[in-house]
Amino acid sequence: MAHQKGEMWQYFWQGPKENSSHHQAFCLGCIRNQLDIAQLNDKDTLGLADEITFKNACATVGSILGEKKAMVAHILGGERSCVHASSEATEKAKELKKKEQKGKWARTDEVEEDADSTNK
Ligand SMILES: [Zn+2]
Repeated sequence: MAHQKGEMWQYFWQGPKENSSHHQAFCLGCIRNQLDIAQLNDKDTLGLADEITFKNACATVGSILGEKKAMVAHILGGERSCVHASSEATEKAKELKKKEQKGKWARTDEVEEDADSTNK
């Protein structure tokens, strides 16, 4: 699973490695805003990745950790949400966040069940 690119990568450009397990991620929405090409979709924006202007935009907007949680957090935001993300990116981020919350609940239940069976 570590080698599988997460679904959020459709909306981020993958930069160099930030640490041993995660790459840097650059929000395509933020890059689009920086390049003044708001009319492009995420796929077409990614198509410009070899352009020097794209690289400059990356340097300006800055990277976040290419981890699903951090990417979702950038799109949905806490105090400061990303106002440049596409509606597709926002929808996907919401979906993944919901899934993750459900996953947490499920895991907690399993742990409790395991503890009970060990005691018996
Ligand atoms: Zn952004």
